[in-house]
Amino acid sequence: MDDEAFYEGVPWWELKKWPGKNVKFGGRPKLAAYLYFNYEVGNTFRMKELRRALGDDAPADDEHLNRRLRQLRDQDWRFDSYKDLAGQDVDAYVLKAKGKRIWLGERNRLDKPSQAVRREVIERDLNRCVVCGVGAGEPYDREPDSKARMTVGHRVAGARLASASPDNLQTECSRCNEPAGDTPPNPERLDEVMSVVSRLGVKDKTALLDWLTAGRRIRNKVDVAYDRIRRLSTTEREAVVQRLREATRRG
Ligand SMILES: [Zn+2]
Repeated sequence: MDDEAFYEGVPWWELKKWPGKNVKFGGRPKLAAYLYFNYEVGNTFRMKELRRALGDDAPADDEHLNRRLRQLRDQDWRFDSYKDLAGQDVDAYVLKAKGKRIWLGERNRLDKPSQAVRREVIERDLNRCVVCGVGAGEPYDREPDSKARMTVGHRVAGARLASASPDNLQTECSRCNEPAGDTPPNPERLDEVMSVVSRLGVKDKTALLDWLTAGRRIRNKVDVAYDRIRRLSTTEREAVVQRLREATRRG
């Protein structure tokens, strides 16, 4: 077998601790190393083979072992299961692609929030997009057939390296979540926001308080008009701008 399959004479999948660290060498790097050095892409492997290879580290039931295997997808590993391939035994998988060599420390830094954290964030935000205010399953304005879908995004743009704790996350509809090209501003600072808030008039303060109490952005007539204007063509929008300028005697 490949020399690289061993670390100081021990196959990677039998290692107890990460090299040079007093940290347990977990099931995921073991699985990845075992598959990498024992199978070629296109080979079939079985759960019981993985179980034998992992020895004491194999989880008690197949469901957990399955999950561990699925987690390798984040690291670009690909498998076909019996579900994807007709005629495949229930516990058999076909290796489709070898991904990151995580036993060498290679890894995609996705830092995906767990299901539990996502649920917590969406519940905290009352199942509404904090950006535009649309609720889960609600139609977007003037699109009665549309249905908003909620997703969890990072408060800081491109903050995949940041921790996936609820404080760094927010509920966004799939549309607001999409334009990754537009870099949102950095998270706000309390003192700066406070000074902006204190300069608002009573009417605006009341509206703001209502939104905050409701946990969502309550859309007023201006909001709705704005959204509708944005759906016009550039020329049509320009006509509205012109009309507004005349009406307000500005510009
Ligand atoms: Zn939205």
